[in-house]
Amino acid sequence: MTSPTRREFLGGAFVLMSAASIRLPLWARAVANVAAAPSGGQILLGVDYYPDQTPEALWEEDSRMMSDMGFTNVRIAEFAWALMEPSEGKFEFGWLHRAIQILHKHNIGVILGTPSAAPPPWLSAKYPDIFEVNAQGQRLRPGGRRFTCPTNPVYRKLSLVIATQMAKKFGETEGVIGWQIDNELTLGSSLRCYCNFCQVGFQNWLRTRYSTLDNLNQSWGTVFWSQTYSDFSQIPVPLLSGGDPNPGLALDYDRYQSYANTSFTEEQLAMLRQMCPTHFVTTNNVGLVDTIDMRDLYAKLDFAAFDNYPGFFDMLTAQEGKSPLPEGIASTISLGHDLARSVKGGEPFMIMEEQSGKAGQKTFAPQPETGQVRLWTYQGVAHGAMGINYFRWDTATFGAEQYWHGILNHDRSKSPAYEEIRQTVKELKALGQEVLYSQYAAQTALVFDYDCSWAVKIQPGHYALDYMTQVTSWYGAISASHTGIDVIAPEADLSPYKIVFAPLAYLMSEKQAAKIKSFVQAGGMFVTNFRLGVKTESSQIVRTPLPGLLRDVMGVTVADYIPIYSAKNAVKFAPGLAGPDGECGLWTDILQPTGAEVLASYTKGSHAGEAAITMNTVGSGKAVYIGADLDAASLARVLRTLSGLAGVKPPLEVPPGIELTVRRAGDKQWIFVLNHTSVSQSVSIPKTFTDLLTGGTHTGKVDVSGYGVRVLQGA
Ligand SMILES: [Zn+2]
Repeated sequence: MTSPTRREFLGGAFVLMSAASIRLPLWARAVANVAAAPSGGQILLGVDYYPDQTPEALWEEDSRMMSDMGFTNVRIAEFAWALMEPSEGKFEFGWLHRAIQILHKHNIGVILGTPSAAPPPWLSAKYPDIFEVNAQGQRLRPGGRRFTCPTNPVYRKLSLVIATQMAKKFGETEGVIGWQIDNELTLGSSLRCYCNFCQVGFQNWLRTRYSTLDNLNQSWGTVFWSQTYSDFSQIPVPLLSGGDPNPGLALDYDRYQSYANTSFTEEQLAMLRQMCPTHFVTTNNVGLVDTIDMRDLYAKLDFAAFDNYPGFFDMLTAQEGKSPLPEGIASTISLGHDLARSVKGGEPFMIMEEQSGKAGQKTFAPQPETGQVRLWTYQGVAHGAMGINYFRWDTATFGAEQYWHGILNHDRSKSPAYEEIRQTVKELKALGQEVLYSQYAAQTALVFDYDCSWAVKIQPGHYALDYMTQVTSWYGAISASHTGIDVIAPEADLSPYKIVFAPLAYLMSEKQAAKIKSFVQAGGMFVTNFRLGVKTESSQIVRTPLPGLLRDVMGVTVADYIPIYSAKNAVKFAPGLAGPDGECGLWTDILQPTGAEVLASYTKGSHAGEAAITMNTVGSGKAVYIGADLDAASLARVLRTLSGLAGVKPPLEVPPGIELTVRRAGDKQWIFVLNHTSVSQSVSIPKTFTDLLTGGTHTGKVDVSGYGVRVLQGA
């Protein structure tokens, strides 16, 4: 069904290509290089290291211990601007060169971080215009990190200068294998900048996007509230005004800010490509965050790199009072991994920071239970990671991240996970190239649309309606089917999948609608929910009955749309979706079938008896509209039932808390069995499997210990 991905291609031809000197991707060449070293393997296994925060007398011991752990690489220097450029134009790289030499002596490759996430005090004092302006119009102050404007020309120039000097110094240095540009661009106290530089940048971006003011005025509908612009220089940023901003302007501002961060990154990338052509280049982010469009950000980078802190996310979820997700934190982590793999079209990604101990800034997330760090490592690999860096080597005794525990404790004793990580590294090196480079098998896709997320934030329709929450809940519900999920762009090719889920598809382009229609026509199942196709890409509401462009394929008209507050509603399911009546949380779209069959109806209020869920048959496929915001249990049952109807099947039947991931290469198949619970569980298996980690075989059933992992290969 799918054309071979780069990984699939590599999986079959890696050795052959190397032997024939065929050009491998930069990351694969780095892996091949570290694999050639005595401590090597087929995967990057390393640690985030801070020689800048560690007495030089300890570097040798640290490097020796890392080598003893089996690590192949470190990432260093991403917050060391002040040491590398102590005053403007004066560069001191001697310390970093010595650190790289010592690491290289112990066969540890180095990923260098460019330091733009934390400019030094001399820069802040001299150029206060570089500080970001937040949504309240307040200018941020130095003293933390990421307090800078991505558009500011001085900040951009000085960020490029320090990165260029690093590239000049270390482009040819033995041991350096790649680069991480900046650090966690999506995280900060203010996610958008509204300064004067950004306003001018926005106006210039709009000139390119719309060419003429007539186009822009039409697209935004600026005749409303007398906002017709007669010059691009009049266009404001969406700061506090006497009323809410124009939704078209506000959405374009989100797009512009995403672009500004991407173009900031690409300035450093263009320089690194020129000066370090043999090094890979990436940047790191965390999970599902909608600040920057990850597909744009990583388009020109060699691979996606994500940071993974399950315990920290769990702590934040509890702190924010959010209800537990249907499949717990494990599915949130899988969602991050599936996004990381999908942003580059299924190519391998790296976990640049993996939680190894208690993690937190002001409060601690719990110490991972015995086995959990290994489990999280395998979870990353199962979803397509080709590299894992544990965060961090030693634990800082000073600075804002004193509570962020590493592999060595504050007193340099070994952390509780030390031996577990050593064992995991050893196992992964022995796992073999074939399984590590095999293809992640996905029968299901989940649409994740940054424009939708931004547009819903601008006008949620209901104060509690949130696109990210919808996507996360839907992922949690469908991940329990263990069918493999790609997290795709709204206009992606849908043909590789049996079923495509698109919650809260509020904005709908003609191109996306056309792809959905042909997917369903050809036999696919498309499942969506309320607020479907309400708006155009310009954030104008369509002038046709809802669901707009998808009215034909869904086979319904939305007769009315009603937010839910105190007047609760509920739905009764038809036999096809049998189950107890479901509750409606935030929203009800009242559906009037024009060809679709009714799968559930409302039971209360003036719309009692009218359709809440419908399914339309088009060609050989189905289009399902879930008009009600269902309670978690009902949603999970409905989505899993629909997966079954679409012919999607899990590789094995497993109890709750067990996650399955399938990897394939040619006619070979591996199943990763991940036990996210603390107790041993038993999984029935229909045939004999070889256990890649123990070398043994299993017939009839396989036991997986608490937080345990099995990698099974079909006999
Ligand atoms: Zn700015």
